[in-house]
Amino acid sequence: MIVLKFGGTSVGTPESLANVKNIVESLGEDAVVVVSALGGLTDRLIATARMAAGGDSSYAAEWEAMAARHENVVRAVIPGADRQEATMEAIRPLLRELRRLYDGISLIADLPGKTLAQIVSLGERMSSIIVTDMIPGAVHVDSLQVVKTEKWHNRDIAAVELTDRLIREKIPQAGGYPVIMGGFISTDRNTGEITNLGRGGSDYTAALVAAALDADVLQIWTDVDGFLTADPRVVKDARVVGRMSFVESMDLCTFGAKVIYPPTIYPVFHKNIPIRILNTHRPEASGTFISDTREKRPYGRVAGISALKDEALVTLRGAMAGDATEISSRCFNALARQGLSVHLVARSSARDSFVFAIGRGDVAAAVRLLKEEFAPELVDNQLEVIEVIENLATLAVVGDDIRRIPGASEEIRRLLAESGIRVAAYSDKASETSLTFVIDEAGVGDAINLLHDAIYTLSVFGPQLTSD
Ligand code: ADP
Ligand code: ASP
Ligand code: MG
Repeated sequence: MIVLKFGGTSVGTPESLANVKNIVESLGEDAVVVVSALGGLTDRLIATARMAAGGDSSYAAEWEAMAARHENVVRAVIPGADRQEATMEAIRPLLRELRRLYDGISLIADLPGKTLAQIVSLGERMSSIIVTDMIPGAVHVDSLQVVKTEKWHNRDIAAVELTDRLIREKIPQAGGYPVIMGGFISTDRNTGEITNLGRGGSDYTAALVAAALDADVLQIWTDVDGFLTADPRVVKDARVVGRMSFVESMDLCTFGAKVIYPPTIYPVFHKNIPIRILNTHRPEASGTFISDTREKRPYGRVAGISALKDEALVTLRGAMAGDATEISSRCFNALARQGLSVHLVARSSARDSFVFAIGRGDVAAAVRLLKEEFAPELVDNQLEVIEVIENLATLAVVGDDIRRIPGASEEIRRLLAESGIRVAAYSDKASETSLTFVIDEAGVGDAINLLHDAIYTLSVFGPQLTSD
């Protein structure tokens, strides 16, 4: 049994949907197919909601355009007027629901979070119906009945055990037909309200399904030939990495590689179910195989380089900052209690400074929590300042044994410095498998290209086999 996930880039046009149909029809084994909304639709659903709430009446024209796009896709991918009409009968109520929601938020001039979640859910609810009807014999499963979330610090996170059970109960298995479901969308386990797993979350839906059903493989079908050594929009000659370990892919995705939504890897890693990254537009390309490959890999290989933008560095300075054990445990506990996570703890040359990187969106909350946690020390000057620097990016160079390459961190810092790229902080301990560097956000494209060239063309860390 396999689980396939097709992203928005794979279900955006009639041509790519035809590829999806071919891929699913030629499988010859039981499969669950998880699909995203039509390409670009989620962004558009959100932008239009903001328009409506902000009093811009052109939301109505936007809705017309989205409705027309769905109808055109149905007419293009489903054969025969009767079958097209049957699909449109299922889609029309959803389009009407969307219109009513837009009219409602326009009237109240407000966009509550739960209404936005309802609006964005319509993307996957519609696309999953279209894909089901496009594939003869396919069976639709309503993800809203199967994928459940719960609140955690005001965020919706997957209720994993419950979802696992529901997937096993509600997804028909071994029926000899493909099951189709929408990714990303879910409902709250307590209130039943529509929620979602976060932007890019269809990958995660697919991973939860693969883990619950003990799939042989999770295939992520997208618009590039596999997991590349760097973001192809940044590095023109990025290469496909033939094999990668779970941990490497997790690190690269946590540090910004958009190809897989980060929480996706954990459920399949846990069950040792390999992931394949494949290109819907070039199904013959071999893609990337992500598994527990630690043993089989050539020593010293760098799996890839990625970057997380919108980062900030927080510095705690004062006499007590010298006690790294106490300050770090209190700091991280305080942040974790509110669901905030730290991306890197920097090596600091100054003995009285403790420095860490965090997403810019979390800075205000982090500073408030730290002021509360360290109130006594701030009063008696054990801790003097909590300083924040923004507009930074965290660059990660990832490989299973990167920390065993002698001098790798120094060499990277030397290369960056030589090109005038200032490293504001770095860590060679962020994880077992990555070296991380905080630099100015404006320099991130240059830095990635520079390091990519040094590692993959000039081979500063030895020959790099990417197609092993
Ligand atoms: P989908 O709609 O299939 O989920 P996404 O846009 O979420 O597609 O992810 C695929 C995109 O991720 C690619 O088009 C590519 O531009 C981008 N990307 C960023 N970093 C990498 C990388 N290291 N390898 C491959 N793709 C990457
Ligand atoms: N459609 C959702 C998004 O654009 C989920 C996904 O594509 O994975 O974020
Ligand atoms: Mg994606």
